[in-house]
Amino acid sequence: MERIIIIGGGLAAVTAAKTLRTEGFEGAVTILSEERHLPYDRPPLSKAVLQGAADAQSTCLLKAEVAQNLAIDLQINQRAEAIDRDAQVVRLSSSQRLPYDRLLIATGSRARTLDGPFEGKGNVFYLRTIDDAECLRAQMVPGKRLLSIGAGWIGLEVAATARKSGMEAVVVELADRLCGRSLPPDVGVALADVHRSNGTVIHLNTSIVTVGGEDQVESVTLSNGEMLAVDVVVIGIGAIANDAIAREAGLETGNGVIVDEFLRTSDPLIYAAGDVAAMRVGDGQPTRMESWANAQDQAAAAARNMLGKKEPYAINTWFWSDQYDLNIQMIGDNQPEGGTILVRKGEGRSFTRFAVIGDVLVGAICFGAPRDMAIVRRLISKGYAVTDDSLITATDLRKLL
Ligand SMILES: Cc1cc2nc3c(=O)[nH]c(=O)nc-3n(C[C@H](O)[C@H](O)[C@H](O)COP(=O)(O)OP(=O)(O)OC[C@H]3O[C@@H](n4cnc5c(N)ncnc54)[C@H](O)[C@@H]3O)c2cc1C
Repeated sequence: MERIIIIGGGLAAVTAAKTLRTEGFEGAVTILSEERHLPYDRPPLSKAVLQGAADAQSTCLLKAEVAQNLAIDLQINQRAEAIDRDAQVVRLSSSQRLPYDRLLIATGSRARTLDGPFEGKGNVFYLRTIDDAECLRAQMVPGKRLLSIGAGWIGLEVAATARKSGMEAVVVELADRLCGRSLPPDVGVALADVHRSNGTVIHLNTSIVTVGGEDQVESVTLSNGEMLAVDVVVIGIGAIANDAIAREAGLETGNGVIVDEFLRTSDPLIYAAGDVAAMRVGDGQPTRMESWANAQDQAAAAARNMLGKKEPYAINTWFWSDQYDLNIQMIGDNQPEGGTILVRKGEGRSFTRFAVIGDVLVGAICFGAPRDMAIVRRLISKGYAVTDDSLITATDLRKLL
């Protein structure tokens, strides 16, 4: 095997390329990234970069000289248009055709857009790329009024950053709770309290009925009858997998590129990892994650498997978010059917919420308690048996290890 091509220029692509080298692969490694920037990390975009506490360059994941030292052929501004599986060739936007022996699809996901009256308005933003973050950062001016549409992680982080930047912030959400896909209702309520106590107005079960303004959104009317004057609108209503290139090549797709536990697509020469990959284990429903830790670990595993290791991958469920001074971390299954919930109170608003099935600890959410996460991970991995309420009462969680 001589040539490995990676389509995509995010965390998964960079991790896979570096892993190929640390595993001793000496053949050609090419990264094809459609963006005009060097690969960069996305989590700071809604946090430190948006607030102006870090500059965009600090997010770089692969400097040109590092790529050169690792003999990684890093091609930015280079979109892969199609995969010709019969010829084992990737066709680029420049019409060039690059042959591969193994191919990794790490094309990530993109922001879901809201059509209709928000389309084409000058003060409506999404937040996925460094360019998005820089445009939005220019709007983070004290006193301006931000409307965040969608109470998912991005919408909430942007609202928190806006408040920290001295703006007014309102979040409008159709559902009855925050981060409905990933947070259990009780934690959603606790998070809403944090936002409200920081001055963010949250409207749940609410839709936007009318939008006022010509080139810019100047006001909106909500389904509860309220009218809001706005200066900046951020839409955070989820992400869509960039799986079209795989679908058009005839690979199995469906909310992402379907891979097996070895991260192999329906073509054994082609792998997928990161936000775009939907992993199916056995007959189960494919699982697609949109998280940093999974993108990194899945890509490393895919790289090793492309080199013939045959290591099954277990999804890394660890996720974090930072909002105001609150750090939230979660791992495992936090809404298990028939499970028991144990809540360990910390200082102030903080707590660690454990999910248990039988006597097995299956998940935890550390809400303002980041130090607990390292201990929780160890408890889960060593198979800690929950036979009493020590998780709640122990003076020091480390004593349970
Ligand atoms: C603002 C923001 C904040 C986040 N915060 C957190 C957080 O706090 N915690 C957390 O766990 N996760 C967070 N995430 C999620 C995390 O960043 C993603 O899960 C991770 O970036 C996924 O990496 P990836 O490499 O799979 O995909 P991506 O980062 O999406 O990278 C894919 C790249 O491939 C490129 N590409 C797509 N198609 C092609 C093509 N045909 N040819 C060439 N290039 C192509 C795309 O333009 C993109 O540059 C955040 C995401 C965002 C956007």
